[in-house]
Amino acid sequence: MTNLARLVRDIAAEMAGLADRGEVATYIPPLAAVDPRHFGLCVVTVEGAIHLAGDALEPFSIQSISKVFALTQALGKVGEALWSRVGREPSGSAFNSIVQLEREQGIPRNPFINAGALVVADVNLAGHEPRMAIGDLLRFIRYLAEDDGIAIDEMVARAEQATGFRNIALANYMKSFGNIEHAPERTLGVYFHQCAIAMNCRQLAMAGRFLMHGGLHSPGGARVVPARRARRINALMLTCGHYDASGDFAFRVGLPGKSGVGGGILAIAPGKASIAVWSPGLNANGNSQLGTLALERLADATGWSVFGVG
Ligand code: GLU
Repeated sequence: MTNLARLVRDIAAEMAGLADRGEVATYIPPLAAVDPRHFGLCVVTVEGAIHLAGDALEPFSIQSISKVFALTQALGKVGEALWSRVGREPSGSAFNSIVQLEREQGIPRNPFINAGALVVADVNLAGHEPRMAIGDLLRFIRYLAEDDGIAIDEMVARAEQATGFRNIALANYMKSFGNIEHAPERTLGVYFHQCAIAMNCRQLAMAGRFLMHGGLHSPGGARVVPARRARRINALMLTCGHYDASGDFAFRVGLPGKSGVGGGILAIAPGKASIAVWSPGLNANGNSQLGTLALERLADATGWSVFGVG
């Protein structure tokens, strides 16, 4: 067994024994029913080795991790023009905050807060029916992960539609500033369905490979995005991927990462590894409590932090 294989196994064993696992999200009813004892970890290395531990093959709701793939899709459609409608600065606010939008005239701070992701969904919807836009995203993720089994959990999508009052408010509010082009319910439909995509840690780590390989699908494989775009998406994940805890995640883990309220985190060690972790219990900032701790252990032991070893 390699050192990395042993490390992945040891981290999962440590996490299995911890009692304080955070709180599962309750504002989306199906997420409230998920057992907080789950823990899964998958590390895909630059050489293509795949290390799995715990519940790495159990699907979960990727939620806001979908924002990484939706952003990649939107940049492919409109390129730099995206940045006239959404910013690139950390928000310092909660994922679903509305206050900044008023001061900043309906331009969300970044593509990873909900308001920004709604603008991205609106961009991806242009020229399509909502069903086609979400189908394109799903096909893109399946291609990246090399797995056609990835699907949308319709029950989660319906629950978000029924309870997503804040997201509905955000979309309508931005519409009033002219920063949502479609009928808000159509843009929201795309957003809710992308959040409801279910994946396991293995599928997610595989889908993240293009961000460790400088934009290539896999070593020597097709180009998914230009190298510069991969670098910039990583930069946004590092600065904005954990909402108002992005600074703390950089401090503790030091890797570009994107969390979701389903308890998943996709983390990228550029040139080294694509990592997915899942533990449904969240900390006070809405990020996976044990997922963050596991990544901290992994980064400490491997020296993968983008800020250097030690
Ligand atoms: N679907 C969730 C929401 O819009 C995503 C939030 C998250 O994963 O952080 O509230």
